[in-house]
Amino acid sequence: MKFNTALLHGDFAGDDKTGATLTPIYQSSAFAHSSAEDLEKIFHNQAPGFSYTRISNPTIDAFEKRMTKLEGGIASIACASGMAALFNAFCNILCAGDEIVTSASLYGGSIDLFRDLEAFGITTHYVANNDLEAFQAATNEHTRLYFAETIGNPRLDVTDIQALSELAHKNNVPLIMDNTVATAYLVRPLEFGADIVVNSTSKYINGNSNGISGVITDGGKFKWDAERYPGMKNFKKFGPFAYIAKLRNGLFRNTGACLSPQNAFYNSIGMETLGLRMERICKNAMELATFLSDTYPDFTVNYPGLASSKWHDIAVKQCGDEFGGIITVRTGSKEKAFAIINALQLPLNISNIGDTKTLVIHPESTLNVHSTEEEKAAAGVFDDLIRISVGIEDIEDLIEDFKQAVDKSANNI
Ligand SMILES: *Cc1c(COP(=O)(O)O)cnc(C)c1O
Repeated sequence: MKFNTALLHGDFAGDDKTGATLTPIYQSSAFAHSSAEDLEKIFHNQAPGFSYTRISNPTIDAFEKRMTKLEGGIASIACASGMAALFNAFCNILCAGDEIVTSASLYGGSIDLFRDLEAFGITTHYVANNDLEAFQAATNEHTRLYFAETIGNPRLDVTDIQALSELAHKNNVPLIMDNTVATAYLVRPLEFGADIVVNSTSKYINGNSNGISGVITDGGKFKWDAERYPGMKNFKKFGPFAYIAKLRNGLFRNTGACLSPQNAFYNSIGMETLGLRMERICKNAMELATFLSDTYPDFTVNYPGLASSKWHDIAVKQCGDEFGGIITVRTGSKEKAFAIINALQLPLNISNIGDTKTLVIHPESTLNVHSTEEEKAAAGVFDDLIRISVGIEDIEDLIEDFKQAVDKSANNI
C-alpha cells in the first residue's frame, strides 16, 4: 500500500464490536476484569488486555499502531508531549555517567532537556550536524546514544541519516532521530538506518493544533548489549521488542507520561489527512520561499527546497522533490523582523509549527530564551530571523500578505 492508503486502512482503524469507523474514545481510567487470574495475566504480560490508562488504553493503542505503520517501525509508545517522548526515549537506556552525542542544531526545548539531564549525571556533547569526524571525536567509552533532528528546527539543516546511523552502529550506540519537522511523509528515518524515531505529534501529525502529544517508535533492530545497557538485561527475552517492553513496564508508566485518550483520538483523525496536508504545505512553502528569495535580495531565505540551501542535495537524496513546511528568513535586524511579524495579517504569531494555518515566530526572543549565545548560533537562531510554518491557505493570499507586510515594514523603520 502506498502512503495515504496505508494511513487509512490497517488493524488500527474502526471498532469490531460496533462497526464504528474510528476506534472510539475509551475515556476510562481503568478496565475491569472478571477474575483475579485474568488481571494477574495482564500484569504479567501473559495476556493481551488493558488494566490502567497510564499504561495503555484502546484509543491510544489504535493511535500507536497508526504511528508504527507510518514510521515503518515495530511498536510505538504515545506520550503526553513531544518533550515527554524525548525524555522517555533517552532515559529508557541511560544511567548516571552515560554520555550523549547530538547534533547542535536542535529544537530549543531539547537543549533545555539535555541541561536538565546533567543533574542526573548525564552529559551531552554538541557537534555540528553532519560533521561525522566531530561526532566520532566526541564519542568515548561512556557514549550511549546519538541524536539529531531529520530537519533541524529552526536551522533547517538536513541530517544525512544513513551516514550518521552507520557511524553510530560502528560505535555500538543507537541513533535516535526527531522526525517532527520532516514527518514520515518526507522521510522515514528507520529506513535510512536510524534505530528509534520520536515525533512531536502536536505538530503535523495532529495537524490542527488541538492537542499536545509525542510518540516514540522503535525499529526493533538495535542489538542491546546488556553490559553497556544494564537496564535492558531483564528485557532481552522480548527480542526485538526489548526497548519498548522496558519502557512500557518502566520509565513510561512510572513517570506517568501517558497521553489522554481524547488527544489520541484527535491525532488519529488528524493523521488521516497527513499526506494531503503535507502535499499542499510543501507546495505552498516552495512557492513562498521562492517568492521571498527572488523578491528580496537583502533577505537570507533558508529552505531545503531552494538550491541555495547548503542541505539541498541531502534533502533531495532523502526526501525527493518535497521539502517540508518550514522556512526561515533573516531580515537584517530584529526591528525589521518584529515589524514584518506585526504587519502580517494572516499568519498567527505563535510558538508552534505544523498547523493548517500559517504561523510565524521570532525564535530568538521566545523559543530560545533559555539558550546561550553559543547554543543559539549553533541552532541557527539569530535576532533578525523569522520562522514561518507554512499552512494550507491559498498561496496567492499568503504571498500578497507577505508582500504588504514587507512593504509596510520598510515604511516603518
Ligand atoms: C515541538 C517540538 C518538540 C516538542 O514537542 P511538544 O509536543 O511541544 O512537547 C520537539 N522537537 C521538535 C523538533 C519540535 O518541533
